[in-house]
Amino acid sequence: MRVLGIETSCDETGVALYDSEQGLLGHELYSQVELHAQYGGVVPELASRDHVRKIIPLLTDLLQKTGTQREQIDGVAYTAGPGLIGALLVGASVGRSLAWAWGVPAIGVHHLEGHLLAPMLETPAPIFPFLALLVSGGHTQLVAVRGIGQYQLLGESVDDAAGEAFDKTAKLLGLGYPGGAALARLAEQGRPEMFHFSRPMTNRAGLDFSFSGLKTQVLTTWQAQENPSEQVRADIARAFEDAIVDTLVIKCRRALQETRLQRLVIAGGVGANKRLRQQLQALGKSLRIQVFYPRIEFCTDNGAMIALAGCLRLQAGQSNTLDFNARPRWLMTAIDETYQAKSP
Ligand code: ATP
Ligand code: MG
Ligand code: FE
Repeated sequence: MRVLGIETSCDETGVALYDSEQGLLGHELYSQVELHAQYGGVVPELASRDHVRKIIPLLTDLLQKTGTQREQIDGVAYTAGPGLIGALLVGASVGRSLAWAWGVPAIGVHHLEGHLLAPMLETPAPIFPFLALLVSGGHTQLVAVRGIGQYQLLGESVDDAAGEAFDKTAKLLGLGYPGGAALARLAEQGRPEMFHFSRPMTNRAGLDFSFSGLKTQVLTTWQAQENPSEQVRADIARAFEDAIVDTLVIKCRRALQETRLQRLVIAGGVGANKRLRQQLQALGKSLRIQVFYPRIEFCTDNGAMIALAGCLRLQAGQSNTLDFNARPRWLMTAIDETYQAKSP
């Protein structure tokens, strides 16, 4: 089965073709990051309009580069939520229209399910069940994944997501927006243990996170410096990154011990962080479990993860009617109930 995937939930326009036999055939991505950088955050209306401009050229490119005829496409998957409603509607409208025109089923994919399953685009792919650490711009969650649609939320951030903490801290250190990746690059120049920030909520039971206090700690430390050098800025960035990474590793260890799951999957944009990848790899080694990641470019938003998730759903006989709408809010525990099962 060959499925076209479309992602437009926020500020990335992504399209991809996934084949259940051959794997990923191709993908195209356009990031609006420069468009929004001048405003210091994503402007929803500008995001929707830019998706409208980019989506058809990206689709044309994808079909051309992969040498695909429309008759070869067996289904269309689009991100139905959660995300910005205007942005979601662009992908949903295009996806449903193509499915209607081509006479194939359409399926609305949950964006976080896409992130969770993205490591399955790689070889070797993780098999169920696994523990997933989902660390993105909007979410920080530990999820026990026992199969497609079987997601048990074990813990999550009670305030800022890890990616959000990276971006906000980067901004206050003068690294622009979105500065998560820039902060990580700066941290590479930083010396360890020159500063120390707390590891929030690690000294009590449970698997929840809290990252909003960290940026305040960074802010007061940064403001207390008189004429800080570039080295000091890098040292602070390093201490911040170490605090986040340590906290995530401590909670992953705890979740693995509590659930006795034998595989750990890292997904979402912060999964691109080198130090986090190294430290979780080391954790896996010490606990003798396997650790899986998507390649760096599939940690952040992309069409490939949507094509994959949609393909798995369509193969299971699920789909949506063409009047199914985008959902700015959508719980991961309420995915299955939105699909129609194919009548036997
Ligand atoms: P969600 O998926 O929760 O709706 P999102 O789609 O905006 O949110 P992603 O695209 O998965 O989130 O990830 C973007 C986030 O990843 C940003 O906050 C960005 O700063 C962060 N990020 C990207 N690269 C790195 C890195 N190397 N280190 C730390 N954070 C990073
Ligand atoms: Mg983005
Ligand atoms: Fe995302």
